[in-house]
Amino acid sequence: MNYTKLQDGYLLKILKGQEIIATITEFCETHNIKSGNVSGIGGVDQIRLYYYDNDLKDYVAKDFSGRNFEIISLNGNISLLDGKPFAHIHIGLGDSDYSMFGGHLKSAVVGVTCEVFITMTDGQLTRSYDEVCKLNLLDLPAK
Ligand code: ZN
Repeated sequence: MNYTKLQDGYLLKILKGQEIIATITEFCETHNIKSGNVSGIGGVDQIRLYYYDNDLKDYVAKDFSGRNFEIISLNGNISLLDGKPFAHIHIGLGDSDYSMFGGHLKSAVVGVTCEVFITMTDGQLTRSYDEVCKLNLLDLPAK
């Protein structure tokens, strides 16, 4: 991965063969990023998406591979889960027939390139387990 520092964050070029979630998470650990906004574009293969089934209260996984999928939109945030950076990222992907699909990104391997902005925000965001939906949700004050 290559990167450059910007005024309020970083621009990453994640290289062919590198897994996106692991690379972003490791980058945040190395650079002590405790909260931020993530956005990106690029091309990926070997993708695992999650769909949250609200009846099951669990994720359902689906894999896509065998060709380049365009990252139409990669968006998410960085927070801390159990004291470590956690990348919560959703992705919209374009297929060879120009159709689009997407979901919660579990993993994807860069097939061409992946250009990701991480914009840091003040302080730190944390997550904790929510008993109702059985997910780790953001800790924000009730107003
Ligand atoms: Zn999600």
